[in-house]
Amino acid sequence: MQLILFGPPGAGKGTQAKLIQEHYDIPQLSTGDMFRAAIKNETELGKKVKSILDSGELVPDETVVELVAETIRKPEYQKGYILDGFPRTIKQAEMYDEILKADGKELHAFVSLEVPQQELIDRITSRGEGREDDTPEKIKVRLQVYEDETSPVKAHYEKQGKLFEIDGVGTIDEIQQRIRKVLDARKS
Ligand code: AMP
Repeated sequence: MQLILFGPPGAGKGTQAKLIQEHYDIPQLSTGDMFRAAIKNETELGKKVKSILDSGELVPDETVVELVAETIRKPEYQKGYILDGFPRTIKQAEMYDEILKADGKELHAFVSLEVPQQELIDRITSRGEGREDDTPEKIKVRLQVYEDETSPVKAHYEKQGKLFEIDGVGTIDEIQQRIRKVLDARKS
């Protein structure tokens, strides 16, 4: 089951992806987590993307897609995975479509978590993960980048009949149940 978990910063993608991972036993792939790990480990990739993450802007499409393609072709991703934070531009979505096609795979569902803007800001400012891009200024940039570059990705998958919108307001468990309902119905 190849799955995209989509939504603006602060929508709860990471939290929900971890629960989906446990329930369906497929790995979560968070591009943001991978970049943060690369920065922490001071790898070549980390050096390349550090200032971009600090600014709240997007890493170039080719760099992200290369990382994702390399990862999803590993043996442990063959029975499926949950993409969290990817694709974030139309170009990334198109490139990802091509990868799936080349590998003879299909996207199961594109699940979009719907959360009002003010709630997003409240959640990010109170989550206290110590992320350098969780300051009020950076949050503003990230939400604007989402609006301009990322939100159009939804329409791309809607055209493919893969879009499922989920109410992302509620308890973690309530939201998880809503997601499972959609996935289970789609499975059968
Ligand atoms: P996240 O943890 O998903 O909020 O991602 C943190 C940061 O990593 C973003 O603000 C971007 O700078 C970068 N990033 C993560 N995923 C992508 C992506 N698919 N495309 C471009 N940049 C990304």
